[in-house]
Amino acid sequence: MRLTRSQALFETACKVIPGGVNSPVRAFRSVGGTPPFLVRGEGAYLEDVDGNRYIDYVGSWGPMLFGHADPDVVQAVQEAATRSLSFGAPTEIEVRLAELICALVPSIEMVRLVNSGTEATMSAVRLARAYTGRSKIIKFEGHYHGHADFFLIAAGSGALTLGQPNSPGVTPAAAQDTLLARFNDLAHVTQLVEAYADEIAAIILEPVAGNMGCVPPEPGFLEGVRALCDRYGIVLIFDEVMTGFRVARGGAQERYGVRPDLTTLGKIIGGGLPVGAYGGRREIMEWVAPQGPVYQAGTLSGNPLAMHAGYAVLRKIADTPDLYDRLEAFGAALEEGVRANLKALGLELYFTRVGAMATLFFTGERVVDYETARRCDTQRFARYFHAMLEEGIYLPPSQFEAFFFSTAHGERELERTLSAQRRALMRAF
Ligand code: PLP
Repeated sequence: MRLTRSQALFETACKVIPGGVNSPVRAFRSVGGTPPFLVRGEGAYLEDVDGNRYIDYVGSWGPMLFGHADPDVVQAVQEAATRSLSFGAPTEIEVRLAELICALVPSIEMVRLVNSGTEATMSAVRLARAYTGRSKIIKFEGHYHGHADFFLIAAGSGALTLGQPNSPGVTPAAAQDTLLARFNDLAHVTQLVEAYADEIAAIILEPVAGNMGCVPPEPGFLEGVRALCDRYGIVLIFDEVMTGFRVARGGAQERYGVRPDLTTLGKIIGGGLPVGAYGGRREIMEWVAPQGPVYQAGTLSGNPLAMHAGYAVLRKIADTPDLYDRLEAFGAALEEGVRANLKALGLELYFTRVGAMATLFFTGERVVDYETARRCDTQRFARYFHAMLEEGIYLPPSQFEAFFFSTAHGERELERTLSAQRRALMRAF
């Protein structure tokens, strides 16, 4: 596989953009090598500047539920573009999108649209702090909620340690109100909550973790956290930026039957354009300005192109009754094929999947939290990743990112993926 033009572009990029990329994981730092520079996407396929074609399992990190360049989404954006690129004023389409979100996500009664997942989580925490009059939040080790200062906190090993910043530029003051808990460890969360009960505004989590690889919640864990929040008057925030409309029509909250107070969304609701959202119980959302006192604003919030793209996607989601059955069928077949490959090669690797997101962990151990995820063999993963890329399979360039598939992935892509995987695993081990 040649990456000549990508290499030249990457060299130039490194001179004018830090690390050559506009978001760190794209630089392939954890797997090494040159990232392909992409020019086209169609359905399940990607093409790079050197003419290489790939079956895509990144889907722009989640948004591409219907594959690339879905004709309905493209048409909606093209039509909107002829009318205006931005008004900064109310439009009908943002109301229609908000109505659809409220109709589809079980716990959302009111929603505010923003421009990214980061904005959504940042704003949801501000709102929870204002609503409860408390300052501290609990987040989970290995969960990612965007790059606001108070989320960039390293894992502290002591059960009750306060967070330390893990990026220069994040001040100790910004970190001191973030408490770290272990995912799937209800006893640990309970201990933290009991120690700081009157000070905790919110517990925020990815109901299915996706940013340490795909790690599902253990049975009873989400219910347990919900009960703790009820007992201590804490706002429960599900960060469904990744899981929203991916693991079920109504997200993880529908799949697991647990309702948060606030939900954050992004990725799929923008159809590939920059959109985020936070929403939830009316009583809390009414605190958002200008209805309430909690300030949050955006020049491009509710941007018409993004709203039309998002609406086209959610309309299809609402109007396609068998959508999630189809995704589940592909996922189940993929899962069966991966397990058959592993068995045939005598490999014991841990595979997880929830709906249309999944991870092959390079460890034989069951992965339930950050500690177990971190014990993966990342060097072997890197070899596997590059072997897959050469086979024309585009995976996330990190062991700790879930991979995604879309409705555009079918029989042909499945067969090609599984036979490529067999060869790639042989090369990696
Ligand atoms: N929350 C979760 C669960 C995410 O996966 C991400 C991004 O990957 C974010 C928040 C941040 O979203 P954005 O990158 O749109 O700011």
